[in-house]
Amino acid sequence: MVMGDLLTEVDVAVVGGGPGGYTAAFRCAELDLETVVIDAGKRLGGACLFEGCIPSKALLHVSAVLGEVERAREYGVDFGAPHISLDPLRKWKSERVVGKLARGLAAVAKGKHVEVIGGRAVFEDSRTLLVQGDEPQKVKFRHAIVASGSRPATIPGIDLVSDRVMDSTAALELSEIPERLLVVGGGYIGLELGQVYAALGSAVTLVEMTDGLLPGADRDLVQWLARRVDKQFQAVKLNTRVESLRETPAGIEARLGGESAVFDRVLVAVGRRPQSDELGLATTRVRVSDRGFIEVDTRGATADPRIFAVGDVTGEPMLAHRAMRQAKVAAEAIAGRPSAFDNVVVPAVVFTDPEVAWCGLTETAAAAQGVAVRVAKFPWAAAGRAATLGRADGVTKLVVDPESGRVVGAGIAGPGAGELIAEAALAVESALLAEDLALTIHTHPTLSETWMEAAETLLRG
Ligand code: NAD
Repeated sequence: MVMGDLLTEVDVAVVGGGPGGYTAAFRCAELDLETVVIDAGKRLGGACLFEGCIPSKALLHVSAVLGEVERAREYGVDFGAPHISLDPLRKWKSERVVGKLARGLAAVAKGKHVEVIGGRAVFEDSRTLLVQGDEPQKVKFRHAIVASGSRPATIPGIDLVSDRVMDSTAALELSEIPERLLVVGGGYIGLELGQVYAALGSAVTLVEMTDGLLPGADRDLVQWLARRVDKQFQAVKLNTRVESLRETPAGIEARLGGESAVFDRVLVAVGRRPQSDELGLATTRVRVSDRGFIEVDTRGATADPRIFAVGDVTGEPMLAHRAMRQAKVAAEAIAGRPSAFDNVVVPAVVFTDPEVAWCGLTETAAAAQGVAVRVAKFPWAAAGRAATLGRADGVTKLVVDPESGRVVGAGIAGPGAGELIAEAALAVESALLAEDLALTIHTHPTLSETWMEAAETLLRG
């Protein structure tokens, strides 16, 4: 077929089938807008489902199980040394977890009459997308929603191309468990996947260029994870950059802080970059920042009245749940509803062992901005439920406005922190007082009680 022979006309064309894209498409369909999604993979799920959140969490579950088995020895239960079979593990991750969810999304799309077109979408003008690939065609739209996401960043000045140098996508394929793994970057991915590989048997060396892991997060939360990785990893090198990577017969030789070391594989996890460069946006009125983020207002509208954008391509934090909320707003705005992304909190969770989660104002950000706050902490060493789990390695923390007593931020470290942060997110979003948390009966014995206990320390003070 000659490119452009086929012409589809729709109310809304969504570019990208990740959490931002499919959520936007589903909401548009619910609002009676005829909607198509264009995705290079001709499937819904995006980086989150196929090469990010979901497969990494599946593997982190496996590493948590291995961690529990190890801890069980402390209370007299010994399962012996684990035997790990990579084929069944990969199959479980790809088919039972990712595949099942992908089929679910495809079924929802069918049910909502959202068509998924395979190919790369490029704007021809403010009304037309050209779809390149196996099914070349033009899509004319009343509105478009760009949800093209992000891709892994590379280390500036280091351009070695090798199977042994992996980004997060390659690392999640689990093609082998390297004996010696170098992880570059002590952020979300470096720590999550570093722990996966360490649990599966790799000797992990992690290098982080700043003076601490998870830069930006409060240190009293991060310290619990830092203590764990200090034990689990072969080495954690802070204030260290990778100066060069070179392929040798023995492996990848890395120069780190003036020293050389050889690794079987390297995982580069130094952040992500927005995918806005190959969309033909210059043919529209959409404005893109110096860092490549599409500029949007609170409805997700760009400078081009017909084009909206959501998710990683619109800026930080690059988190799926932010994209999904933005997506609903954009769909509703296109349908003429008075919707806005006016959320106060976008909670963050690092799914490590222990987990680290926070939302709203952090103590670090308050100090940097000169905002006066009161901080209340409850150490898990004093929590009954934590004792019964053999896990005193955590803390629950509230950040409160000293004048009003309102909860303006919260953080938590410990197993299950990723689930527990939801209560704090609701508290901050709803402008609850610390007193509200203190007076709410929390089930005993649970880890959720630690929110109540932390709040009570403020009322006593
Ligand atoms: P990140 O921004 O979390 O961490 C990158 C780290 O690499 C930083 O600590 C940075 O200081 C360090 N770094 C940068 N250049 C370096 C260099 N040359 N040498 C050594 N260290 C260097 O980025 P990421 O871990 O790649 O993750 C990307 C994004 O993906 C995250 O910001 C997040 O938005 C998303 N993500 C979220 C989750 C989650 O929600 N649990 C999990 C994975 C990824």
